[in-house]
Amino acid sequence: MSELRELYQTMILDHYKRPRNRGRPEAADRRAAGDNPLCGDKVTVFARVKDGVVTDVGFEGSGCAISTASASLMTESVKGRRVEEVAKLFDRFHEVVTGASEPGSDLGKLTVFVGVREFPMRVKCATLAWHTLRAALEGGGAVSTE
Ligand code: ZN
Repeated sequence: MSELRELYQTMILDHYKRPRNRGRPEAADRRAAGDNPLCGDKVTVFARVKDGVVTDVGFEGSGCAISTASASLMTESVKGRRVEEVAKLFDRFHEVVTGASEPGSDLGKLTVFVGVREFPMRVKCATLAWHTLRAALEGGGAVSTE
């Protein structure tokens, strides 16, 4: 288990140092801002939705390693998926990071965040980008995890 844990930490740090899909995609037509006052994480998520599919997604903001890595891995995980699939994936992700259910292959790389269930304060860091993406897909606005 400790080797696996190390692998997960390495992946989180990699996405923290080199976030994927950072910035605003040119064609983005959805956006929302979110913040997690408990930790000081702030994120703005941009998305483009065409025929019910998230064709492009990006983010800007600043925050801790967990929140930044989560936003980065989220953008990789949702690009090309249907809006309803994204909602289901968020539900699953939320269940896993809160400890309500166990990770499965459906989560893919998102499994690396399973360790945050041991740190309830960190759950909000890991889910901030997801809450914000959901707000963007539902029509925009601001969200706060407080
Ligand atoms: Zn944080």
